[in-house]
Amino acid sequence: MARILIAEDEADIAAGLRDNFEFEGFEVIVAADGQAALQAAAAKSPDLILLDLMLPKVDGLEVCRRVREAGYRIPILMLTAKSQEIDVVRGLEAGADDYITKPFSIRELIARVRAALRRTAAGKGLSRVLRIGEATVDLVKGKVERGKEVFTLGHFELEILKMLVESAEAPVERNRLLDVIWGLEGFPATRTVDNHIVSLRRKLEPDPKHPRHIITVHSIGYKFVP
Ligand code: CA
Repeated sequence: MARILIAEDEADIAAGLRDNFEFEGFEVIVAADGQAALQAAAAKSPDLILLDLMLPKVDGLEVCRRVREAGYRIPILMLTAKSQEIDVVRGLEAGADDYITKPFSIRELIARVRAALRRTAAGKGLSRVLRIGEATVDLVKGKVERGKEVFTLGHFELEILKMLVESAEAPVERNRLLDVIWGLEGFPATRTVDNHIVSLRRKLEPDPKHPRHIITVHSIGYKFVP
């Protein structure tokens, strides 16, 4: 069951959203101001945040920025009023994934939430937390804990890891990683993939020079061995 955090200070809107999302089978956490939203984002590990822009204490844009700065990659959908078009742009810049304008249709909102969740790791059938050898990896937060050390995975490291895990034991070609993750406009050298693999191994593997989980497949690419 997906857990969503609703950051909304208008009590009647928050209550209406809670009822509707709970009815649809979601687990709902409500935060009535920005500070409470930041605390809940850290403490309750929501799968998605529904974020009103005008919030007391810490406004929605700042909440969005801080959630991204803390390394959380969960989808953030902004709730905005019609007059806030400028803020929509700034919200997307601050790291929001999508927005919906008030007054909105609850059907449309639920559909957008489902679509956003489908695009994330949880929706792709990957489990959110993976054990890789001695490391515990949170694929949503991009966080690795190994022994007493904690690492944050960069965007590209995380995307590479997800692709390798999805086709576990089968090699993934360098060019496919480049196409899917960087896209055609990027034109990065295949060396770029190798550099990210080096960094990924340093975070995941106890002995990065002799990796046991992120394995080089000669002249092809890489494969993941659980
Ligand atoms: Ca508000």
